[in-house]
Amino acid sequence: MLETGAAIRKEHVVPGLDVVESVRAIAARDLAPIVQQIDAEGRYPAEVLSALGRAGAFMAHVPEVGTPDLVTAIRAMSAVGEYCLSTSFCMWCQDALGWYIHASANDELKHKLGRRVAIGEALGGTALSNPMKTFFGIEAIRLKARRVAGGYVVRGLLPFVSNLGADHYFGAVFEVEDEPRRFVMAIVPCAADGVSLADNTKFVALDGTRTFAVQMRDVMIPDSFVLADPSDAFIRRIRAGFVLLQSGMAFGLIRGCVALMEQVKGALGHVNKYLDMQPEDFREQLAAMEAQIERLAATPFETDQTYWRAVLEARLAAGEATIAAAHAAMLHCGARGYVTTGAAQRRLREAYFVAIVTPATKQLKKMLADMSH
Ligand SMILES: Cc1cc2nc3c(=O)[nH]c(=O)nc-3n(C[C@H](O)[C@H](O)[C@H](O)COP(=O)(O)OP(=O)(O)OC[C@H]3O[C@@H](n4cnc5c(N)ncnc54)[C@H](O)[C@@H]3O)c2cc1C
Repeated sequence: MLETGAAIRKEHVVPGLDVVESVRAIAARDLAPIVQQIDAEGRYPAEVLSALGRAGAFMAHVPEVGTPDLVTAIRAMSAVGEYCLSTSFCMWCQDALGWYIHASANDELKHKLGRRVAIGEALGGTALSNPMKTFFGIEAIRLKARRVAGGYVVRGLLPFVSNLGADHYFGAVFEVEDEPRRFVMAIVPCAADGVSLADNTKFVALDGTRTFAVQMRDVMIPDSFVLADPSDAFIRRIRAGFVLLQSGMAFGLIRGCVALMEQVKGALGHVNKYLDMQPEDFREQLAAMEAQIERLAATPFETDQTYWRAVLEARLAAGEATIAAAHAAMLHCGARGYVTTGAAQRRLREAYFVAIVTPATKQLKKMLADMSH
């Protein structure tokens, strides 16, 4: 049932410091021509994701030895996000999956599936929106489990999980109903018996992300796929990385919006200069946000509350700046951004996702408010 032992084809991975440059080249060459199709037709950028994996885009933050390099992962996601948020979000899903495995004490999973995820040979995502809301008092947990010999039997429905397919994997949290009641985090293979994926939602953007409703009907999750039992301390360990990595999507989208504003400067600069927000404003804001995120990303396992608060504030700022930049790009581009093939309207629709994906702006504000009490 569980495919784990494939040989790792390391020779396909381009090593070295130029990962972000390779990613940039792939985005310009392979992704730019298909962004419309991804947006309008919901095309899943499978080949691009595989190429990104071979270029080392999913690897830096999950090293086999040494310190996780989240900065390279964020910069790679950002280079792609300049063109397309769907693909950038799929990268985050993939990065989050790798992050969970990397941060766990499950060596077997690390050496088998973890390595395949790091090179993009196995793809997948994360179903942590629901538990992240549960842990912060927003909604009830959706997956329930009972203990059986050798693992857990899990059931429940998750409304949205992205970057999935028949042979993909995702990280999930379920509540064990036997005593002691607790939360457990594990990897779920989409190919496991009892897992079904339903593609019944059309989104206004991000439709090329293979986002499914996942039904789990008494799915056996063996102990070999458990990341943490109980998962409370583990969630605290992974949460900053989970949140910080998302900034790659925000920074890429902002940079893409700045480029759109610059593009119309020649034709419309004489009137656009009266708009409140100019490309230079966003460039300045972006530089400050990137510096702050990169500082925080240097120590992703820090457990201090002050650090966690700074992570949440930085994530909130990134989401708000993304919407502001996309809004400004729309105003700068005018009618040429308002046609169905216009980039500005696509970026505006995409931008809201950064502020809606968990932790959404409202959740971040709640979490920060709760911390102040
Ligand atoms: C394109 C896309 C991709 C996503 N990918 C993932 C992913 O990979 N992994 C993951 O864990 N989460 C994913 N999500 C979920 C996302 O992270 C958020 O949890 C979600 O957008 C809602 O967050 P919120 O905090 O705004 O909650 P709210 O929208 O305020 O409330 C959420 C609650 O409303 C329910 N709900 C949702 N849609 C409807 C509807 N049409 N009618 C009635 N109730 C509804 C939900 O089930 C949930 O209980 C995705 C969402 C979208 C739109």
